[in-house]
Parts: sequence; C-alpha cells; structure tokens
Amino acid sequence: MGRRQQKSAIVVGAGIVGAAASYFLARSGFSVRLLETVAPASGASGAADGAVSVASKRPGAMMDAALAGVALYRELEREGVLAGLFTPRPTLMVAETEAESAVLDGHAGALANAGVTVERHVGAALRARIPAIAPGVRMAVEVHGEGHAIGYQIVNRLIEAGGVAVERACPVHRLALAFGGTAVDGVVTDQGTLHADIFILAAGAGSAALLGLDGVLRPRKGQLLVTDRAPALNVSLHGSLMSCGYLLSKATTGTPDRSTERRYGLVIDPLRTGQFLIGGTREDRADSGNDLPAVQRLLTDALRLMPALAQLRLIRAFAGVRTATADGLPLIGRAAGLQNLIVATGFEGDGICLGPLAGRLVQQMATGATPEIDLAPFDPGRFALRRQDA
Ligand SMILES: Cc1cc2nc3c(=O)[nH]c(=O)nc-3n(C[C@H](O)[C@H](O)[C@H](O)COP(=O)(O)OP(=O)(O)OC[C@H]3O[C@@H](n4cnc5c(N)ncnc54)[C@H](O)[C@@H]3O)c2cc1C
Repeated sequence: MGRRQQKSAIVVGAGIVGAAASYFLARSGFSVRLLETVAPASGASGAADGAVSVASKRPGAMMDAALAGVALYRELEREGVLAGLFTPRPTLMVAETEAESAVLDGHAGALANAGVTVERHVGAALRARIPAIAPGVRMAVEVHGEGHAIGYQIVNRLIEAGGVAVERACPVHRLALAFGGTAVDGVVTDQGTLHADIFILAAGAGSAALLGLDGVLRPRKGQLLVTDRAPALNVSLHGSLMSCGYLLSKATTGTPDRSTERRYGLVIDPLRTGQFLIGGTREDRADSGNDLPAVQRLLTDALRLMPALAQLRLIRAFAGVRTATADGLPLIGRAAGLQNLIVATGFEGDGICLGPLAGRLVQQMATGATPEIDLAPFDPGRFALRRQDA
C-alpha cells in the first residue's frame, strides 16, 4: 500500500478563529494555507477587550460553550502553547439599582446551575472586596474561574505554534464550486483559484459576502477606551468590573430587528500593564471610528462606578467591529450542501473566549472526530445560504 498523502486545508481569515483552526489542523497533520486580506488580527481580534469569560453568557448553548472555551485556555496555557498569555482573574458583576440586583441574582443562579462558582458581596464585604467601588453600588456577584487574553497576542502565538505561514494581502473573492454545487473546488484569489481538500471560512465580517449571508451576519461596532497606568489602583481591582447594564446590552444581540440605537454596557478591565480598559458600546454599524458622545458617556459611567478613575488620563480610544448573527448564536459547522466547507464565524462579543475552542471544533469536524460540545445550536444550516455558483 502506498503512503497516505497529507491532507490539505485552506483557511480564510487570520483572526483568532482562523489562527486557531490553522493551529489545530496543522497539529493533526494537515498542510495548511492561511489566507488573509490584510494581516493577522487586523479585524475584530485586534480591536477587542479580552474577557475569557462565562459571566456574561446567556444560559444554554453559549454558557456551555464558554465553559469549554475557558477550560481550553487553561489547557493551552498548561501545555505551554499560550504560556504567559492567559491571565486568570474573576469577573465582578455589579448592580446599582434594585431592578439590576434582581437581574443579577437571577443570572448568578443560572451561572451556579451551570457549575460556575459565584460569590455574592453586599455591604461591608462588598467594600472590602472592591475598595474602589462607588458608594451607590448595591451588590456584586464575583464569578470565579475566568481570565483575560489579548486577541492579537493569541493570534500571533497560535500561528507561530502551528508553524503556519500567513499569506497576507490575499483576499478571497469567492468560492468556486464543483460537483454540481455540492462541494468547494477552490477559492478565487488574485493568484488564481487555490485548491485544497477542505476549506475553512473564518473571515469574520468578510464571511457574509462569501456565503451570501447578508442580513444573517451583521456588523456590530464597539468603542473602547484605555487609561494611563495607575498600578496601585489597578491591583486594588482584582477582576473585571462589569455593570449589570452590560448583560442587558448583550441581551439585545439576538433581537430580530436591526436596531440603530447605540447600547452601552460598562466594563472596567484592569490590564496587566497597570492601565484600565473601559468599554464599550454596541452599535449596528461597520465603521471603526470613535465619537465624543460615546467617549463621554463611557467615562461618565466608569466614574459613576469607580470614582478614583478621575485621577487618570485617558490615553487612547479605539473601536472594533464584531460580527453578530440574527439569532445571537455563532455559526460553527458544515455549510449546508457543501461537504468540504466548514464555517466558523459570527462570534459577536465572545470570539476571544470562544476562538480557540472554535478552532479545535473545526479540526474535530475536519478529522471526523466527535465535536467536544453539541454543535446543533450553532449549525449554519439554520439559515438559508444564497450560494454562489462556480
Ligand atoms: C470592541 C470589542 C470588544 C470585544 N470584547 C471581547 C471580549 O471581551 N471577549 C471576547 O471573547 N470577545 C470580545 N470581542 C469579540 C471578538 O473580538 C470577536 O468575536 C473575535 O475577534 C472574532 O474573531 P474572528 O476570527 O471570527 O474574526 P476577525 O478577528 O474579524 O478576523 C477575520 C479576518 O478575516 C479577514 N478576512 C475577511 N474577509 C476576507 C476574505 N474575503 N479573504 C481573506 N481574509 C478575509 C479579515 O481581514 C480578518 O483579519 C470584542 C470585539 C469588539 C469589537
């Protein structure tokens, strides 16, 4: 019997999902080409906060996926692949009103049911745990077992660890189909049509055009701020401070209407540099600019929760564009009717947490292994694709 030929994969998009898929496919013996329009992490993965967190997830499929996502970060950190890039820290969800306390209590219950360790702080215990918290805050729920990672660092590390060369400035213009439109024959690029055994579509916002998913995949911009360093204040905040309003801003993710209203959900993240990252907005638009009303509102909200931030200078504002789906769940799985195409996109505000997991799920599907979580809720087949023809 002759030697089995090495299987080949083309991965489209070098964000965290494409980088992770490339890493896991390379590790299981595939020869991988990673094609990228611009450069690694030039999309959402390079313009995000980095909460590796179950805290804000909706109970059900997303909470289960996030638990697996956080566990995988720990595993990759232990193995050395992500050594030094995953910072364990809790999330501190806070409520300012009675209504928010009720929402947070309910959410804490859902987290506990999913097996997450949560701790409730009120009164003097709350002030002792979060000394810089504003007097108006009534309650905090501390979610244990969480962490933080910087998206572009994870992307670069996974690409390096997989030994994958990124083909930059290589946009994929369309899929070329074969066998009566039941398989992908190749991807059409400026270098011609490139062929492989299997194709992975992890192109974030660029996936809509390639799949004919306009209206299913939607851009959702987020504006973020970064302060100057304040090491003493930074160490006094031992986790990411998340307002209950963040939960509510995320809850609109799956609403069917295309709301143009800007939503705010405050997060104050103490970075390892001693700085604070303050976020963010949710806006159903695709530009990545900052504007004064958003900056002002984020600062006002942040000062209301943590008045000591007033001593710091704001040194940076930036924005990124998340890729949301019409029902708030990502697309992970075989594209309906195309046997050798796996789609992994639509991670909205959760792709730093779920990116490595998505990459390993892609590899499990590509090798015929049983995916480690139930992928039925994420099946791209729930949306009708308007497919291109060769
Ligand atoms: C403000 C903000 C805050 C966030 N905070 C968090 C957080 O705290 N925790 C968390 O888990 N997630 C967070 N996210 C979400 C997270 O950043 C995304 O879900 C994740 O980065 C998506 O990764 P991706 O690989 O799917 O897409 P991207 O990172 O967008 O990568 C897609 C890549 O594909 C390339 N591409 C597109 N079209 C083509 C084409 N036709 N051919 C070739 N290449 C193509 C793009 O150039 C891009 O590099 C945040 C996002 C934003 C914007």
